[in-house]
Amino acid sequence: MNIQGIHNLFLQCKSLSIDTRKIEKDSMFFAIKGENFDANTFAKDALDLGALFVVIDNEKYFIDERTVLVQNSLETLQELAKFHRSYLALPIVALTGSNGKTTTKELINAVLSKKYNTKATVGNLNNHIGVPLTLLSFTKETQIGIVEMGANHQKEIDFLCNIAQPDFGYITNFGKAHLEGFGGVQGVIAGKSEMYHFLRANDKTVFVNLDDAVQVEKSKDIKAFTFGLNNDDADLNIQNIQADPFVAISYNDFSIQSHLIGLYNANNINAATAIGLYFEVVQEDIKSAIENYIPANNRSQMMKKGSNEIILDAYNANPSSMAVAITNFLQLGSSNKIMILGDMFELGDESAVEHKIIADSLKEQTNSVCYLIGKFFYENKTESKQVFFFETFDSFADYIKTQQFHDNTILIKGSRGMALERTLEYIS
Ligand code: ATP
Ligand code: MG
Repeated sequence: MNIQGIHNLFLQCKSLSIDTRKIEKDSMFFAIKGENFDANTFAKDALDLGALFVVIDNEKYFIDERTVLVQNSLETLQELAKFHRSYLALPIVALTGSNGKTTTKELINAVLSKKYNTKATVGNLNNHIGVPLTLLSFTKETQIGIVEMGANHQKEIDFLCNIAQPDFGYITNFGKAHLEGFGGVQGVIAGKSEMYHFLRANDKTVFVNLDDAVQVEKSKDIKAFTFGLNNDDADLNIQNIQADPFVAISYNDFSIQSHLIGLYNANNINAATAIGLYFEVVQEDIKSAIENYIPANNRSQMMKKGSNEIILDAYNANPSSMAVAITNFLQLGSSNKIMILGDMFELGDESAVEHKIIADSLKEQTNSVCYLIGKFFYENKTESKQVFFFETFDSFADYIKTQQFHDNTILIKGSRGMALERTLEYIS
């Protein structure tokens, strides 16, 4: 069956699923092979659970006329997503970058949904499977689609842009994330810039933060809508940014007070504001969308435990997000500060040096007690009066079990694999 035929079947379905544990009635089930399983074996279950059609790539599992046999289910999913996207012909805003994609995506969605019927990537579904699933969640009613694209190696953004065919693009930043797969910072810049190549080649529009020299340089010759701090050339000229600790911005005597902490979030807020203005969302609606956005999932969350204020940013970490989080924390006016920082993963050859840079940067300051946890930090163990190293989370847990926390301000940040939110159990 050709892709148009499969799309006709898809249009008869209420949703699409790749997981029989979450399957909905009247859906289309795609059997995608994972590392440890072959979903072809679940095709029968999918039909029993109410799927209208199943797409499989192993004839052994053919059931009846409800089965669509293809060469490769994953490739068919990607092709179907591309076909569906052009069938709907709706404007799509795509975003990528090293840090802040999900936060910015959520903010853009909050802003644009004030005026349009929008659909955006759910959670962090931003890869070669997540992007197709996002596109296939768009319907005839969707007026603007917002698609997060993640990448950890070259050509991935190119591939995802080719499927999603975005009309608008934004790169949050070029940072030190996934250095291993990209081959260093220049590799990250090249990899993310694939989005700019797509936008340029297809005469599409880019949103640019004029304060980011790499963005300005790499997005040259693309139709642009820009924002920047105290920059008269910008389409959105931000006059003031504060983070005390919540980020507030102002422009044209109009101010927006967010629930996000960390100066880096100002870029995310500025981008969402610029995109809102571009799509002619009224200012008051942009303001209320951003002001009502409360981050979840361990991403820069502010919480209270006993008498302690906690900045929980345990969702992820890499050298650039770690550095901004530390700078931001050190600038806070509070006393009794504690930083609990975990290893940063996926840094390849740069790992040792990046952990050393962070550890060294903390040695001299007298502003906060620092606990550095994990084997990469431990390899740079040079304890000082304020900095303490623990090779494993368990050894750290044994230590803090014995400690009392009163009136502390605590930053918790590390890579996902460190799961530093476990620390919360020990703070009361
Ligand atoms: P992932 O690669 O996991 O999808 P992401 O790019 O979607 O991550 P978010 O989940 O929005 O990013 O944020 C993750 C963390 O990155 C935040 O908690 C914060 O520490 C940091 N961060 C967010 N925005 C920025 C930014 N504009 N510049 C630098 N760091 C940022
Ligand atoms: Mg994300």
